[in-house]
Amino acid sequence: MPQPAANLGKLPPYLFAEIDRKIAEAKARGVDIISLGVGDPDLPTPAPIVAAMQKAVAEPANHNYPPYHGTEEFRTAATNWMKTRFGVTVDPATEALSLIGSKEGLAHLILAYVNPGDVVLCPSPGYPVYHNYTLLCHGEPYTVPLLAENKFLPDLSKIPADIAKRAKLFFLNYPNNPLGAIIDEAKIKEIVDFCKQHDILLCHDNAYSEMTFDGYKAPSFLSVPGAKDVCIEMFSLSKMYNMTGWRVGFAVGNPDAIKALGTVKNNTDSGVFKAIQHASAVGLNMSEELTKDLNAIYARRRDIFVEGLNKLGWNVPRNEATFYLWVPVPTGMKSVEFVSLLLEKCGVVVPPGTGYGAEGEGYFRVALTVPDERLKEVLARMEKEGVTFTQLAKHSAAV
Ligand SMILES: *Cc1c(COP(=O)(O)O)cnc(C)c1O
Repeated sequence: MPQPAANLGKLPPYLFAEIDRKIAEAKARGVDIISLGVGDPDLPTPAPIVAAMQKAVAEPANHNYPPYHGTEEFRTAATNWMKTRFGVTVDPATEALSLIGSKEGLAHLILAYVNPGDVVLCPSPGYPVYHNYTLLCHGEPYTVPLLAENKFLPDLSKIPADIAKRAKLFFLNYPNNPLGAIIDEAKIKEIVDFCKQHDILLCHDNAYSEMTFDGYKAPSFLSVPGAKDVCIEMFSLSKMYNMTGWRVGFAVGNPDAIKALGTVKNNTDSGVFKAIQHASAVGLNMSEELTKDLNAIYARRRDIFVEGLNKLGWNVPRNEATFYLWVPVPTGMKSVEFVSLLLEKCGVVVPPGTGYGAEGEGYFRVALTVPDERLKEVLARMEKEGVTFTQLAKHSAAV
Protein backbone atom coordinates (compact mmCIF):
# COMPACT_ATOMS: atom_id res chain seq x y z
CA MET A 1 0.00 0.00 0.00
CA PRO A 2 1.23 3.54 -0.76
CA GLN A 3 1.52 6.03 2.08
CA PRO A 4 -1.39 8.50 2.48
CA ALA A 5 -0.62 12.15 1.63
CA ALA A 6 2.05 13.65 3.88
CA ASN A 7 -0.35 16.35 5.07
CA LEU A 8 -2.47 13.76 6.85
CA GLY A 9 0.49 13.19 9.12
CA LYS A 10 0.48 16.88 10.12
CA LEU A 11 -2.97 16.69 11.67
CA PRO A 12 -3.12 16.65 15.45
CA PRO A 13 -4.31 13.36 16.99
CA TYR A 14 -8.08 12.91 17.25
CA LEU A 15 -9.28 14.84 20.29
CA PHE A 16 -11.27 12.01 21.82
CA ALA A 17 -8.94 9.07 21.05
CA GLU A 18 -7.42 8.85 24.54
CA ILE A 19 -10.74 9.73 26.20
CA ASP A 20 -12.57 7.08 24.13
CA ARG A 21 -10.13 4.46 25.39
CA LYS A 22 -10.75 5.47 29.02
CA ILE A 23 -14.53 5.49 28.46
CA ALA A 24 -14.38 1.96 27.05
CA GLU A 25 -12.39 0.82 30.10
CA ALA A 26 -14.79 2.45 32.55
CA LYS A 27 -17.82 1.00 30.75
CA ALA A 28 -16.23 -2.45 30.90
CA ARG A 29 -16.02 -1.99 34.69
CA GLY A 30 -19.75 -1.23 34.70
CA VAL A 31 -19.45 2.54 35.39
CA ASP A 32 -22.55 4.60 34.46
CA ILE A 33 -20.80 7.11 32.21
CA ILE A 34 -22.33 10.58 31.73
CA SER A 35 -20.98 12.37 28.66
CA LEU A 36 -20.97 16.15 28.49
CA GLY A 37 -18.46 15.68 25.72
CA VAL A 38 -19.91 16.12 22.29
CA GLY A 39 -21.68 19.20 20.93
CA ASP A 40 -24.61 17.21 19.63
CA PRO A 41 -28.14 18.08 20.80
CA ASP A 42 -29.90 15.29 22.72
CA LEU A 43 -33.40 16.53 21.85
CA PRO A 44 -35.29 15.48 18.71
CA THR A 45 -35.78 17.57 15.58
CA PRO A 46 -39.00 19.62 15.99
CA ALA A 47 -42.18 17.83 14.84
CA PRO A 48 -43.14 20.22 11.98
CA ILE A 49 -39.77 19.60 10.29
CA VAL A 50 -40.03 15.83 10.73
CA ALA A 51 -43.61 15.85 9.38
CA ALA A 52 -42.57 17.90 6.31
CA MET A 53 -39.73 15.45 5.69
CA GLN A 54 -42.00 12.41 5.96
CA LYS A 55 -44.21 13.78 3.23
CA ALA A 56 -41.36 15.03 1.05
CA VAL A 57 -39.48 11.73 1.11
CA ALA A 58 -42.44 9.99 -0.59
CA GLU A 59 -42.53 12.56 -3.40
CA PRO A 60 -40.81 11.20 -6.57
CA ALA A 61 -39.90 14.75 -7.70
CA ASN A 62 -37.48 14.83 -4.77
CA HIS A 63 -35.64 11.64 -5.70
CA ASN A 64 -33.25 12.89 -8.37
CA TYR A 65 -30.18 15.14 -8.13
CA PRO A 66 -30.86 18.52 -6.54
CA PRO A 67 -29.66 21.75 -8.17
CA TYR A 68 -26.00 22.25 -7.26
CA HIS A 69 -26.48 25.51 -5.41
CA GLY A 70 -29.67 24.43 -3.61
CA THR A 71 -33.38 24.46 -4.47
CA GLU A 72 -34.99 27.81 -5.05
CA GLU A 73 -37.36 27.10 -2.15
CA PHE A 74 -34.48 26.49 0.27
CA ARG A 75 -32.33 29.43 -0.86
CA THR A 76 -35.32 31.76 -0.70
CA ALA A 77 -36.26 30.51 2.78
CA ALA A 78 -32.65 31.11 3.86
CA THR A 79 -32.45 34.62 2.42
CA ASN A 80 -35.93 35.57 3.71
CA TRP A 81 -34.82 34.42 7.13
CA MET A 82 -31.65 36.56 6.85
CA LYS A 83 -33.93 39.53 6.14
CA THR A 84 -36.46 38.98 8.93
CA ARG A 85 -33.95 37.80 11.52
CA PHE A 86 -31.05 40.23 10.89
CA GLY A 87 -32.34 42.83 8.41
CA VAL A 88 -29.70 41.57 5.96
CA THR A 89 -30.45 41.54 2.22
CA VAL A 90 -28.85 38.74 0.20
CA ASP A 91 -29.73 37.68 -3.32
CA PRO A 92 -30.90 34.04 -3.31
CA ALA A 93 -29.56 33.57 -6.87
CA THR A 94 -25.97 34.80 -6.44
CA GLU A 95 -25.32 35.26 -2.73
CA ALA A 96 -26.63 32.01 -1.21
CA LEU A 97 -25.62 28.37 -1.45
CA SER A 98 -26.90 25.19 0.21
CA LEU A 99 -24.33 23.21 2.23
CA ILE A 100 -24.14 19.60 3.40
CA GLY A 101 -23.72 21.01 6.89
CA SER A 102 -21.59 24.07 7.55
CA LYS A 103 -18.48 21.97 8.27
CA GLU A 104 -18.49 21.02 4.59
CA GLY A 105 -18.74 24.69 3.58
CA LEU A 106 -15.93 25.77 5.90
CA ALA A 107 -13.58 23.10 4.58
CA HIS A 108 -14.38 23.69 0.93
CA LEU A 109 -14.00 27.45 1.31
CA ILE A 110 -10.39 26.81 2.33
CA LEU A 111 -9.91 24.59 -0.71
CA ALA A 112 -11.42 27.37 -2.84
CA TYR A 113 -9.04 30.09 -1.62
CA VAL A 114 -5.78 28.72 -0.28
CA ASN A 115 -2.66 28.30 -2.40
CA PRO A 116 0.34 26.49 -0.92
CA GLY A 117 1.90 28.74 1.73
CA ASP A 118 -1.06 31.12 2.05
CA VAL A 119 -1.82 32.15 5.61
CA VAL A 120 -5.18 31.43 7.21
CA LEU A 121 -6.00 33.24 10.45
CA CYS A 122 -7.40 30.64 12.84
CA PRO A 123 -8.73 31.44 16.30
CA SER A 124 -7.50 29.38 19.25
CA PRO A 125 -9.31 27.97 21.09
CA GLY A 126 -11.42 27.25 18.04
CA TYR A 127 -13.36 24.76 15.97
CA PRO A 128 -10.63 22.41 14.69
CA VAL A 129 -11.70 22.39 11.01
CA TYR A 130 -10.28 25.86 10.25
CA HIS A 131 -6.77 24.87 11.30
CA ASN A 132 -6.77 21.24 10.15
CA TYR A 133 -8.25 21.76 6.71
CA THR A 134 -5.77 24.59 6.10
CA LEU A 135 -3.01 22.03 6.69
CA LEU A 136 -4.70 19.59 4.29
CA CYS A 137 -4.70 22.37 1.65
CA HIS A 138 -0.97 23.11 2.14
CA GLY A 139 -1.80 26.43 3.75
CA GLU A 140 -0.25 27.94 6.84
CA PRO A 141 -2.56 28.32 9.84
CA TYR A 142 -1.67 31.36 11.96
CA THR A 143 -3.01 31.24 15.50
CA VAL A 144 -5.08 34.19 16.66
CA PRO A 145 -5.39 33.71 20.43
CA LEU A 146 -8.79 34.30 22.03
CA LEU A 147 -7.95 35.20 25.62
CA ALA A 148 -10.13 35.71 28.69
CA GLU A 149 -8.51 39.13 29.29
CA ASN A 150 -9.89 40.26 25.87
CA LYS A 151 -13.33 38.75 26.51
CA PHE A 152 -12.28 35.99 24.09
CA LEU A 153 -12.21 38.41 21.15
CA PRO A 154 -9.25 38.68 18.73
CA ASP A 155 -6.67 41.41 19.40
CA LEU A 156 -6.03 42.58 15.82
CA SER A 157 -3.12 44.80 16.87
CA LYS A 158 -1.18 41.62 17.73
CA ILE A 159 -1.34 40.23 14.18
CA PRO A 160 2.05 41.03 12.58
CA ALA A 161 1.96 43.12 9.37
CA ASP A 162 3.70 40.45 7.26
CA ILE A 163 1.16 37.84 8.41
CA ALA A 164 -1.77 40.15 7.63
CA LYS A 165 -0.24 40.73 4.20
CA ARG A 166 0.03 37.00 3.43
CA ALA A 167 -3.35 36.11 4.93
CA LYS A 168 -6.09 34.99 2.57
CA LEU A 169 -8.81 34.00 5.02
CA PHE A 170 -9.86 34.86 8.56
CA PHE A 171 -12.20 32.49 10.44
CA LEU A 172 -14.28 33.62 13.39
CA ASN A 173 -17.23 32.14 15.24
CA TYR A 174 -19.56 34.06 17.59
CA PRO A 175 -21.47 32.87 19.57
CA ASN A 176 -18.41 30.70 20.04
CA ASN A 177 -17.75 27.01 20.33
CA PRO A 178 -16.04 26.10 22.70
CA LEU A 179 -15.98 29.42 24.60
CA GLY A 180 -19.64 30.45 24.67
CA ALA A 181 -18.34 34.00 24.01
CA ILE A 182 -20.28 36.64 22.05
CA ILE A 183 -19.33 39.70 19.97
CA ASP A 184 -20.79 43.18 19.48
CA GLU A 185 -21.21 45.22 16.30
CA ALA A 186 -18.36 47.64 17.07
CA LYS A 187 -15.90 44.75 17.21
CA ILE A 188 -17.31 43.22 14.01
CA LYS A 189 -16.81 46.57 12.28
CA GLU A 190 -13.19 46.69 13.45
CA ILE A 191 -12.64 43.19 12.01
CA VAL A 192 -14.37 44.04 8.72
CA ASP A 193 -12.17 47.14 8.36
CA PHE A 194 -9.05 45.07 9.09
CA CYS A 195 -10.02 42.53 6.40
CA LYS A 196 -10.72 45.32 3.87
CA GLN A 197 -7.39 46.95 4.61
CA HIS A 198 -5.48 43.68 4.10
CA ASP A 199 -7.62 42.12 1.36
CA ILE A 200 -8.65 39.14 3.47
CA LEU A 201 -11.83 37.09 3.04
CA LEU A 202 -13.63 37.02 6.38
CA CYS A 203 -15.54 33.82 7.06
CA HIS A 204 -17.95 33.99 9.93
CA ASP A 205 -19.14 30.63 11.21
CA ASN A 206 -22.52 31.49 12.74
CA ALA A 207 -23.61 27.98 13.78
CA TYR A 208 -25.00 29.19 17.14
CA SER A 209 -26.78 32.41 16.13
CA GLU A 210 -30.12 31.10 17.41
CA MET A 211 -28.94 29.45 20.62
CA THR A 212 -29.18 32.53 22.85
CA PHE A 213 -30.72 33.30 26.24
CA ASP A 214 -31.94 36.05 28.57
CA GLY A 215 -33.15 38.21 25.67
CA TYR A 216 -29.76 38.34 23.94
CA LYS A 217 -29.88 38.23 20.11
CA ALA A 218 -26.69 37.35 18.22
CA PRO A 219 -25.75 39.48 15.20
CA SER A 220 -24.95 38.48 11.64
CA PHE A 221 -21.55 39.85 10.54
CA LEU A 222 -23.34 40.86 7.33
CA SER A 223 -25.50 43.34 9.24
CA VAL A 224 -22.47 45.65 9.53
CA PRO A 225 -22.61 48.11 6.59
CA GLY A 226 -20.12 47.14 3.87
CA ALA A 227 -19.36 43.73 5.38
CA LYS A 228 -20.55 41.91 2.27
CA ASP A 229 -17.54 43.35 0.39
CA VAL A 230 -15.28 40.97 2.35
CA CYS A 231 -17.44 38.52 4.24
CA ILE A 232 -19.09 35.15 3.76
CA GLU A 233 -21.20 33.72 6.56
CA MET A 234 -21.97 30.05 7.22
CA PHE A 235 -25.17 28.94 8.92
CA SER A 236 -26.09 25.46 10.06
CA LEU A 237 -29.46 23.92 10.87
CA SER A 238 -27.64 21.37 13.04
CA LYS A 239 -27.68 23.21 16.34
CA MET A 240 -30.59 25.53 15.45
CA TYR A 241 -33.19 22.77 15.18
CA ASN A 242 -31.43 19.63 16.49
CA MET A 243 -30.61 18.45 12.97
CA THR A 244 -26.96 17.38 13.22
CA GLY A 245 -27.66 14.08 11.48
CA TRP A 246 -29.54 15.66 8.58
CA ARG A 247 -26.45 17.48 7.22
CA VAL A 248 -27.81 20.81 6.05
CA GLY A 249 -26.70 24.42 6.22
CA PHE A 250 -26.11 27.38 3.95
CA ALA A 251 -23.57 30.03 3.03
CA VAL A 252 -24.53 33.64 2.35
CA GLY A 253 -22.60 36.78 1.55
CA ASN A 254 -19.99 38.00 -0.91
CA PRO A 255 -20.98 36.76 -4.41
CA ASP A 256 -17.37 36.08 -5.51
CA ALA A 257 -16.80 33.89 -2.46
CA ILE A 258 -20.13 32.12 -3.02
CA LYS A 259 -19.12 31.48 -6.62
CA ALA A 260 -15.67 30.12 -5.74
CA LEU A 261 -17.13 27.86 -3.05
CA GLY A 262 -19.80 26.72 -5.50
CA THR A 263 -17.13 25.78 -8.05
CA VAL A 264 -15.34 23.53 -5.56
CA LYS A 265 -18.66 21.98 -4.57
CA ASN A 266 -19.77 21.36 -8.18
CA ASN A 267 -16.66 19.29 -8.57
CA THR A 268 -16.94 17.52 -5.23
CA ASP A 269 -20.49 16.83 -4.11
CA SER A 270 -23.95 16.90 -5.62
CA GLY A 271 -25.88 18.87 -3.04
CA VAL A 272 -28.45 18.18 -0.33
CA PHE A 273 -31.36 15.72 -0.76
CA LYS A 274 -34.29 17.83 -1.98
CA ALA A 275 -36.62 16.45 0.70
CA ILE A 276 -34.20 17.70 3.38
CA GLN A 277 -34.08 21.12 1.73
CA HIS A 278 -37.88 21.29 1.76
CA ALA A 279 -38.14 20.28 5.43
CA SER A 280 -35.37 22.80 6.25
CA ALA A 281 -37.29 25.58 4.49
CA VAL A 282 -40.33 24.72 6.62
CA GLY A 283 -38.13 25.08 9.71
CA LEU A 284 -36.58 28.38 8.62
CA ASN A 285 -40.03 29.83 7.91
CA MET A 286 -41.12 29.21 11.51
CA SER A 287 -37.72 29.62 13.13
CA GLU A 288 -38.52 31.76 16.14
CA GLU A 289 -41.29 29.47 17.29
CA LEU A 290 -38.99 26.44 17.12
CA THR A 291 -35.96 27.93 18.86
CA LYS A 292 -37.86 29.60 21.71
CA ASP A 293 -38.76 26.29 23.36
CA LEU A 294 -35.30 24.77 22.86
CA ASN A 295 -33.55 27.80 24.31
CA ALA A 296 -35.73 27.69 27.42
CA ILE A 297 -34.48 24.15 28.03
CA TYR A 298 -30.82 25.07 27.50
CA ALA A 299 -31.09 28.16 29.72
CA ARG A 300 -32.49 26.02 32.55
CA ARG A 301 -29.68 23.48 32.17
CA ARG A 302 -27.15 26.30 32.20
CA ASP A 303 -28.63 27.70 35.41
CA ILE A 304 -28.52 24.30 37.09
CA PHE A 305 -24.93 23.63 36.10
CA VAL A 306 -23.50 27.11 36.68
CA GLU A 307 -25.11 27.32 40.12
CA GLY A 308 -23.86 23.82 40.92
CA LEU A 309 -20.28 24.52 39.84
CA ASN A 310 -20.22 27.79 41.74
CA LYS A 311 -21.30 25.94 44.90
CA LEU A 312 -18.26 23.71 44.38
CA GLY A 313 -15.92 26.70 44.37
CA TRP A 314 -15.96 27.84 40.77
CA ASN A 315 -16.86 31.34 39.62
CA VAL A 316 -18.46 30.64 36.26
CA PRO A 317 -20.65 33.32 34.61
CA ARG A 318 -23.98 32.57 32.94
CA ASN A 319 -23.42 32.41 29.19
CA GLU A 320 -25.83 34.35 27.04
CA ALA A 321 -25.34 31.94 24.15
CA THR A 322 -24.49 28.36 23.11
CA PHE A 323 -24.97 25.14 25.07
CA TYR A 324 -21.31 25.19 26.13
CA LEU A 325 -19.63 26.27 29.33
CA TRP A 326 -15.90 27.03 29.22
CA VAL A 327 -14.69 26.31 32.71
CA PRO A 328 -11.25 26.84 34.29
CA VAL A 329 -9.66 23.77 35.85
CA PRO A 330 -8.70 24.15 39.53
CA THR A 331 -5.61 26.34 39.94
CA GLY A 332 -2.34 24.52 39.32
CA MET A 333 -3.86 21.64 37.35
CA LYS A 334 -3.51 20.87 33.64
CA SER A 335 -6.60 20.41 31.46
CA VAL A 336 -5.88 16.76 30.69
CA GLU A 337 -5.12 16.02 34.33
CA PHE A 338 -8.48 17.38 35.50
CA VAL A 339 -10.46 15.75 32.70
CA SER A 340 -8.90 12.35 33.49
CA LEU A 341 -9.68 12.76 37.18
CA LEU A 342 -13.30 13.66 36.43
CA LEU A 343 -13.65 10.56 34.29
CA GLU A 344 -11.92 8.20 36.72
CA LYS A 345 -13.59 9.42 39.93
CA CYS A 346 -17.01 10.52 38.65
CA GLY A 347 -17.53 8.69 35.34
CA VAL A 348 -18.09 12.07 33.65
CA VAL A 349 -16.68 12.85 30.21
CA VAL A 350 -15.66 16.36 29.11
CA PRO A 351 -13.06 17.42 26.54
CA PRO A 352 -9.91 19.21 27.73
CA GLY A 353 -9.55 22.82 26.58
CA THR A 354 -6.36 21.85 24.75
CA GLY A 355 -8.48 19.86 22.29
CA TYR A 356 -9.38 23.23 20.75
CA GLY A 357 -5.83 24.58 20.51
CA ALA A 358 -2.91 25.17 22.87
CA GLU A 359 -4.61 28.38 24.12
CA GLY A 360 -7.28 26.17 25.68
CA GLU A 361 -4.85 24.99 28.39
CA GLY A 362 -6.30 25.55 31.83
CA TYR A 363 -9.91 24.94 30.79
CA PHE A 364 -12.41 22.21 30.04
CA ARG A 365 -15.60 22.40 27.99
CA VAL A 366 -19.03 21.30 29.15
CA ALA A 367 -21.76 20.57 26.59
CA LEU A 368 -25.20 20.85 28.20
CA THR A 369 -26.59 18.01 26.13
CA VAL A 370 -28.13 15.83 28.86
CA PRO A 371 -31.39 16.28 30.84
CA ASP A 372 -31.55 18.24 34.13
CA GLU A 373 -31.47 15.09 36.27
CA ARG A 374 -28.21 13.92 34.73
CA LEU A 375 -26.62 17.34 35.25
CA LYS A 376 -27.62 17.18 38.91
CA GLU A 377 -26.15 13.69 39.10
CA VAL A 378 -22.83 14.99 37.71
CA LEU A 379 -22.71 17.72 40.35
CA ALA A 380 -23.58 15.27 43.12
CA ARG A 381 -20.79 12.91 42.05
CA MET A 382 -18.28 15.77 41.90
CA GLU A 383 -19.18 16.87 45.41
CA LYS A 384 -19.10 13.33 46.79
CA GLU A 385 -15.70 12.53 45.22
CA GLY A 386 -14.13 15.88 46.08
CA VAL A 387 -13.62 16.80 42.44
CA THR A 388 -14.25 20.46 43.20
CA PHE A 389 -12.41 23.71 42.60
CA THR A 390 -12.18 24.28 46.34
CA GLN A 391 -10.61 20.91 47.11
CA LEU A 392 -8.28 20.62 44.11
CA ALA A 393 -6.90 24.14 43.71
CA LYS A 394 -3.22 23.92 44.68
CA HIS A 395 -3.14 27.23 46.51
CA SER A 396 -6.07 26.24 48.71
CA ALA A 397 -3.91 23.57 50.36
CA ALA A 398 -1.71 26.32 51.80
CA VAL A 399 -4.62 28.49 52.98
C1 LIG B 1 -21.28 22.14 15.09
C2 LIG B 1 -20.45 23.21 14.47
C3 LIG B 1 -20.35 23.34 13.08
C4 LIG B 1 -20.80 22.28 12.11
O1 LIG B 1 -22.06 22.16 11.90
P1 LIG B 1 -22.62 21.22 10.75
O2 LIG B 1 -23.56 22.12 10.05
O3 LIG B 1 -23.28 20.12 11.48
O4 LIG B 1 -21.52 20.76 9.88
C5 LIG B 1 -19.63 24.40 12.56
N1 LIG B 1 -19.01 25.26 13.36
C6 LIG B 1 -19.06 25.16 14.69
C7 LIG B 1 -18.34 26.15 15.51
C8 LIG B 1 -19.77 24.12 15.28
O5 LIG B 1 -19.76 24.00 16.60
